[in-house]
Amino acid sequence: MQIIHSVNEMQKKMLTLGKENMIGFVATMGYFHEGHISLMKESVKDNDITVTSIFVNPLQFGENEDLDRYPRDLENDRKKAEAAGVDFLFIPQADDMYPSKMTLEIIAKERTNVMCGKSRPGHFEGVATVLIKLFHIVRPDKTYFGIKDAQQAAVVEALIKDLNFPIELITLPIVREADGLAKSSRNVNLNEQERAEAIWLKKALEHGRKIVVDGELNPAKMVKEATKIIHDKTSGSVDYVEVLSYPELKPVTENDNSIIIAAAVNFNQARLIDNLIFDREGKLLR
Ligand code: AMP
Repeated sequence: MQIIHSVNEMQKKMLTLGKENMIGFVATMGYFHEGHISLMKESVKDNDITVTSIFVNPLQFGENEDLDRYPRDLENDRKKAEAAGVDFLFIPQADDMYPSKMTLEIIAKERTNVMCGKSRPGHFEGVATVLIKLFHIVRPDKTYFGIKDAQQAAVVEALIKDLNFPIELITLPIVREADGLAKSSRNVNLNEQERAEAIWLKKALEHGRKIVVDGELNPAKMVKEATKIIHDKTSGSVDYVEVLSYPELKPVTENDNSIIIAAAVNFNQARLIDNLIFDREGKLLR
């Protein structure tokens, strides 16, 4: 596995390699866990060459967010990526990715006025901007994203379509701990008590889904009851619980057969997100 820091070097390399090889790409912020590894392994299986990037993108963090305490462990990441079969680990510096003030600005107009987009203004603009740049640098044929960040996957799907990137988006299921907590780099920032409480996110979402399984697709009731569970069972503060169509992220109508229940909860040092995607009968789709 080769490690590349320079944007220029990475882009030049991929211009050549991309001519004769299928390129798979996994964009990450590092501190790898099995969720990241599942994306890399799928890419290694599907492609001739897999590129994984590690870049904690300042543009997608708000002023009072956790950019400074976002966990980092490059040596461990290197070992894990190599073991997963990654060919190139691309680790650019912020001033190489953003050498000067940008002249253009990306605005996300759909799919971002709900869920994380509402509580993290500018977040998906930052995500879209860095992904457009990374797609131009790496020039992948396929790119792999986790459905853990379901809203991000919905935005990436729109971005690829809107801007005619010749890239296939592949989304993979949420990898969870044995007790159901979605794996996240941010889980290390939970204290012992919060870690024990955090299992209630998934349980609360499952409760919401059960309302559908029991025959009542009632978003207001699902939101209310799931919110109450998280409120009662954890010390975290509920940022949102929402039930929407997926991937459009609009209020659920009679015609929708792909529905997401998603939550974000703020603990002291970590903001956790989770979701379930299911059909009108409550059957899981992911
Ligand atoms: P991040 O490093 O958090 O930006 O995540 C990089 C990629 O890994 C994104 O596509 C995430 O959706 C994906 N990912 C993060 N956590 C998980 C998980 N628990 N299961 C599956 N994919 C994940």
